[in-house]
Amino acid sequence: MSYKVTWADQRINKNEKAKLKEDGLDVFKDLPELVKHPFSEIDKSYYMYFKFAGLTVQRPQDKGYFMMRIKIPGGRLNLKQAEHIAWLANTYGRGIVDLTTRQAVQYHWIPFEKLPEIFAGINDVGLTTMGAEGDITRNIVDNPLSGIDANELFDTRQTVLDVYQRFQGNRDYSNLPRKFKISINSNIYNAGNAEINDLAFIPATKELNGQTTRGFNVKIGGGLGMLPYLGLAMNIFVTPDQVADVAEAVVTLYRDYGPRRSRAKSRLKFLIQDWGVQKFETALREKVPGLQTAGHSEIVGWSNGTALGVHPQRQAGYYYIGVSVPAGRLSGDDFQAFVDLAKKYGRDELRLDHGQNLILPYIAEKDLAAVKSAEVFKRFSITPHRLLDFGTTCTGIEYCNLANAHTKEIFKPLLNELDKRFTFEKPVTITLTGCGNNCAHRSIADIGIEGVRARTQAGDHAEGYVLSVGGSLLNGGHFTEPLKGKFSKDQLADALSAILQDYQDQKLPEESFYDF
Ligand code: SF4
Repeated sequence: MSYKVTWADQRINKNEKAKLKEDGLDVFKDLPELVKHPFSEIDKSYYMYFKFAGLTVQRPQDKGYFMMRIKIPGGRLNLKQAEHIAWLANTYGRGIVDLTTRQAVQYHWIPFEKLPEIFAGINDVGLTTMGAEGDITRNIVDNPLSGIDANELFDTRQTVLDVYQRFQGNRDYSNLPRKFKISINSNIYNAGNAEINDLAFIPATKELNGQTTRGFNVKIGGGLGMLPYLGLAMNIFVTPDQVADVAEAVVTLYRDYGPRRSRAKSRLKFLIQDWGVQKFETALREKVPGLQTAGHSEIVGWSNGTALGVHPQRQAGYYYIGVSVPAGRLSGDDFQAFVDLAKKYGRDELRLDHGQNLILPYIAEKDLAAVKSAEVFKRFSITPHRLLDFGTTCTGIEYCNLANAHTKEIFKPLLNELDKRFTFEKPVTITLTGCGNNCAHRSIADIGIEGVRARTQAGDHAEGYVLSVGGSLLNGGHFTEPLKGKFSKDQLADALSAILQDYQDQKLPEESFYDF
């Protein structure tokens, strides 16, 4: 630890006490010795360290299997990396790869004893699980179309990499009070979902020295989870070459002053609520002198960070194809099929969006017909029109220790049923999370479904679901508002149909669900 601990006079929780004894990143040092022994010999108090290696002990917790997440800054993979992701699924992950709402991938059934060789293979292709979970800077999200997007102010790919490299493996920032989420995006439709991140850089312009300068305004203190908050605007303007310094200063302030008493109240959003934005901004300006006041925000709408369908790129003659991956889950073989298509028709690249979907960039106009006729598109849609195409869902009770209810297994049949009943000209986003932690962004959906504990009429414990409506990140954001009642899995289709029928019957032409 190369910094002075300033929070030692706080009453701190047990994770904090443990982290003072051993840094989270030491898990990589410990692993070669740990795997020489049976998993059952590991004390449960050690499980929190696995998080820093992108690992969560999978339920049931005594079997020695993990959920493993890989960081993919901005969701961009070269094809060697993408091929390895497919191979990992088929070799260690029982043939399944899940796409996340932070442009990363995750696996289940990763065997404990194979971790050193799995990590070595991931590192060989230039990827890492380090910091994919844990109290550390997480995967940095970006505009999924950066560099090929007609609706961005400028290319943000290098800025994302600069910030990633500033923090990755840096032990000055490996003991934060909780996770820290960064969004960098210059798409004018808020493709980085700014307001649900701890720190978000959003596209802005400012007149400087008689010239219009492109850069970012900054929001801080957003985050979902049990107590969601929308990011708040600071009065600063940041040029792309200042982003890494500003990010480092913000993370330093959070590290040194963030609350560490209750893990439920340790995210940056609680420090911002305590201090107020002005005090935080003053402290930030002391660390990064000379920051300009905020510029003109260039945000004009909200895309939800999804990029579905076939659309022209900024580069004339080229198209990107956004492929709907229902429930964000696909087989290693299907992932490989997309890699093969990209190899044959695209460039050295596959991308992931925020809606748990895949993007094939750089398809030449002359090849579009051939690509669209590929066998894999009999199973995956490239003409987004269904409710299923716009929905997202989290891991749920199948593997997640915190879940109250099933998610991925019920999501596809549920939305397929709704797609038989309704057709809308504008997307309606329906998301399903297995608990209040909100990993599938229930709070910003048109209709959010959350798994809860419930009881049957006979009084037995059961999985239940509650509904909320009206979420969006338009105009700074608005969270969903809860509806009354709990529903069983079998009641969900009818409950959702009642809401959608109301919308269909009463909406004005072209009126979105949010405006309705
Ligand atoms: Fe697990 Fe809850 Fe997150 Fe779903 S929302 S992945 S159930 S913690």
